[in-house]
Amino acid sequence: MVGAELHPFLVEVMATRGGANVLQCYQCGTCSGSCPVLEEMTHGPRRILYMIQNGMEQEVLSSPDIWRCVSCYSCMNRCPRDIEITDLMADLRRLAIQKGYVEDKEAVFGRAFAETVAHHGRLFEPELLTRYYLRTWDVVSLIGMIPLGLKMLVKNKLPFVPESIQNPADLEKVKLIPPVIEGQVDVVNTLVSWMITVLGFVAALGLLITGQGSHTFHIAPGVRGKREEEDMS
Ligand code: SF4
Ligand code: SF4
Repeated sequence: MVGAELHPFLVEVMATRGGANVLQCYQCGTCSGSCPVLEEMTHGPRRILYMIQNGMEQEVLSSPDIWRCVSCYSCMNRCPRDIEITDLMADLRRLAIQKGYVEDKEAVFGRAFAETVAHHGRLFEPELLTRYYLRTWDVVSLIGMIPLGLKMLVKNKLPFVPESIQNPADLEKVKLIPPVIEGQVDVVNTLVSWMITVLGFVAALGLLITGQGSHTFHIAPGVRGKREEEDMS
């Protein structure tokens, strides 16, 4: 088979770390026979490999199977063709996030986490939760989070302003988040920007009223809070 005949999705998978040898799979089924969560899956790893070989992007990347994999390495250890199936499953999850095939809540949370870290280089809990709940509208779970949020607020553990590493843009090199499409308005990103502005305003107001710094009232991203400096001294 020459390269020009390969399906673009197959080429894309073969370019990942775990997908390099997918064409070597001869459908023996050892992987599915070894998988401890096969019953939770719709297809199982053998059929996932088959679908990749046949360029079935939609079926593979929207399959809950890639999120059911518990990375036990049983399939990878036993595959007679040395296909790195466990790593491949992780690569497929990353591709599913990058290409917007995220229906599973765990996947949505993973995407929200990746986007938040990609923007700042560090986790910013209010942004993570905003991104997650704006995509899932899981009101019941959101209400369940309120007591914890209030507890964190009372204990000064709820950050109001994100901290950033020096060059968060460097994280784009590892393709952590989906590429920005020129001219596309991303509602979630816009609302997150507003949320950060409002929280920054609240933090500045708190600083003005209390007259003292706190690790929850950073003046600007990248500037360490007073408490952190004290902790480090
Ligand atoms: S064990 Fe390896 S060769 Fe056999 S079906 Fe699974 S991936 Fe293919
Ligand atoms: S690594 Fe994932 S796909 Fe492979 S056997 Fe374990 S759970 Fe199943």
